[in-house]
Amino acid sequence: MNSDKYFDIAIIGAGPAGCSAALTLQKSKLKVALFEKKEFPREKICGDGLDDRCINTLRAINPNYVDELLATQKCSAIENMRFYYKNKPCDINIKNVGYTCKRYDFDNFLFSLVKRDCQNVTVFQNTKICSVQNEICAVLLEDTNQVRYQAKMVLVCTGASSFLARKLTGKPFEKEKMGFAVRAYYKGVRDLQGKTIELHYKKEYFPGYLWIFPMADGIANVGVGWHLGQKHNERFQDVLTNWIKNDDMLRLRFADAEQVGLMQGGLIPYSTKHFDCYGDNYCICGDTANLIDPISGGGIGTAMLSGHFAVQIAEKAITAGDCSANMTKGYSEKLCQRVQSEIKKRYSLQQSIIKHRWLLGLILFMGRQALIMQRIKKWYYK
Ligand SMILES: Cc1cc2nc3c(=O)[nH]c(=O)nc-3n(C[C@H](O)[C@H](O)[C@H](O)COP(=O)(O)OP(=O)(O)OC[C@H]3O[C@@H](n4cnc5c(N)ncnc54)[C@H](O)[C@@H]3O)c2cc1C
Repeated sequence: MNSDKYFDIAIIGAGPAGCSAALTLQKSKLKVALFEKKEFPREKICGDGLDDRCINTLRAINPNYVDELLATQKCSAIENMRFYYKNKPCDINIKNVGYTCKRYDFDNFLFSLVKRDCQNVTVFQNTKICSVQNEICAVLLEDTNQVRYQAKMVLVCTGASSFLARKLTGKPFEKEKMGFAVRAYYKGVRDLQGKTIELHYKKEYFPGYLWIFPMADGIANVGVGWHLGQKHNERFQDVLTNWIKNDDMLRLRFADAEQVGLMQGGLIPYSTKHFDCYGDNYCICGDTANLIDPISGGGIGTAMLSGHFAVQIAEKAITAGDCSANMTKGYSEKLCQRVQSEIKKRYSLQQSIIKHRWLLGLILFMGRQALIMQRIKKWYYK
């Protein structure tokens, strides 16, 4: 194999997890490949909400990147979160917790940083990796044009598309760990409050919700997500429009609204109590490792953090000349330390709400009392 096809680390997927991994290695001497099946800028179906974990991870990678993001991209600060249950609002002030930014722009921003700042990273766009084969001391990759590559370690960051990860772990696709969400952009939604994101709940879709996220240019990202295990009679594409049509308040607010572009949907691989994200010569990151918060549906921040952590462990393993699971489990441990307790808590809450739907009503009712809301907020964000 040509030396230009041989790498220390191969990162598959240039979403937030893959780009964060590549950016973390910008000062390393390792030879890195970043494979992406599409070409940037590319669309990513999302609610476009960047939480504090995205911002903090970006800052940890390079302290200047957050300022650059805010200076060059259309970001809108989120300062308030408004929950609606039975059309009664309940606010949580979450100043400085994040931004909305179109994924088209945010992902392209991250990808451009990789191209600009990572001299050691060879970027392959329009290159879909269709096979991974784990050998004793290396991983063999093949793309859809039958070009072969070899790496000492591979990071699988392919989003909700998990066939490569399943090949490495031997684990099946698990529907019970999946949610589904659809979103569309709208202009002309009434009573949009620039810095307030809205979450609307209704019994049938607990713990899923309908969101309205105001974007910087006055349009709104509107979507709905639900647990895939729950049975509904509606087609995916009708859930959002039916919800708006059948809700007295939303119907009024959307009376003059116009949908901009297509309504599109995607899987939400949310986390449970167990992480299954490492093995001999590989780490799995972001959505591919089921790292989405099961309550909020947010996964960009954890995807970035996981890429950032995984590649640090990969670098250590390569330097030590040992990429076995014994070394890569350090990645899982680091991730567990940082996010597992919160994920366990949120997963338990999600499962309780699925079983006892009245719980969310109770939580939101109690949340209207400022002191109780403060405690819930402390517990949830701890
Ligand atoms: C409708 C919807 C709304 C959402 N809203 C939010 C939100 O508001 N906030 C939030 O934090 N999260 C949200 N999420 C979740 C969020 O989108 C994901 O958690 C996040 O994108 C995960 O990043 P990632 O890098 O793991 O995967 P991705 O962003 O999916 O990136 C994976 C990349 O890998 C590439 N790829 C895939 N297979 C291959 C292959 N075989 N070879 C080469 N390249 C490959 C893909 O083209 C893609 O570029 C939402 C998800 C959905 C579906």
